[in-house]
Amino acid sequence: MAAQKHSAYFEVRDALAKRGCPICWLAARSVRRFLDGLLYENVNDPGLRAAIRAARGFCNTHAWQLQAMGGALGLAIIHRDVLTTEMEILEKSRYRAPAPLSLQRVQTALSDSRPAAATAETVAQLAPQRPCQACQQQRQIADVYLSTLLEHLSDIELRDALRSAGGLCAPHLRRALQLVRDEVTYQALCEAQVAAWRSLKAELDEFIRKNDYRFASEPMGEEGDSWSRAMAALSAMQGVPWE
Ligand SMILES: [Zn+2]
Ligand SMILES: [Zn+2]
Repeated sequence: MAAQKHSAYFEVRDALAKRGCPICWLAARSVRRFLDGLLYENVNDPGLRAAIRAARGFCNTHAWQLQAMGGALGLAIIHRDVLTTEMEILEKSRYRAPAPLSLQRVQTALSDSRPAAATAETVAQLAPQRPCQACQQQRQIADVYLSTLLEHLSDIELRDALRSAGGLCAPHLRRALQLVRDEVTYQALCEAQVAAWRSLKAELDEFIRKNDYRFASEPMGEEGDSWSRAMAALSAMQGVPWE
């Protein structure tokens, strides 16, 4: 465990040398490894297959990430399984018409946008019963790295590196704030984050200014991709779904 924590620290340090949220980098890498392992080693793992069935497959992001990774046979086996589950639910389902004068019937009749009570149970059964396994992996590993980062935030060098990387993305910042357990760390995190956001905002100001025709002749500098970094800062990196 100590060795694992030690290695997490160095992984966080390495990720901080890149631009963008270090937790996004690390979580995305961990999910790639998880999906790779799933396709090439764990397709027939009964526990994992049951979890994937219960999750009714993968979220949109991770389904298409898997598709791009290849491994067609593994994906066929996994999705055949999920498809069979969904098909059986639909075959066994029935239309549960509410009693003629029931409140449910009146409410459904009054609003087209209201979900029909008669099919509510089928809809609930067809829906994922647990989170996408890759999303779950992503959240668990993010917590490990966030805890490591918080543990070492008293280190000025690490804090500077976090600021230069652009801070955490907003979803990982919110999670970090949930994990903080003391005020000193809270202050250190907030200061580094506000400083990072302040400089990103200045870059956005500069980018917007240079898009004005009066200043269009000025060459674009590092702020050229600030709009894209701002999107990652607020919504996490591409391929790191949060909600
Ligand atoms: Zn992030
Ligand atoms: Zn997912």
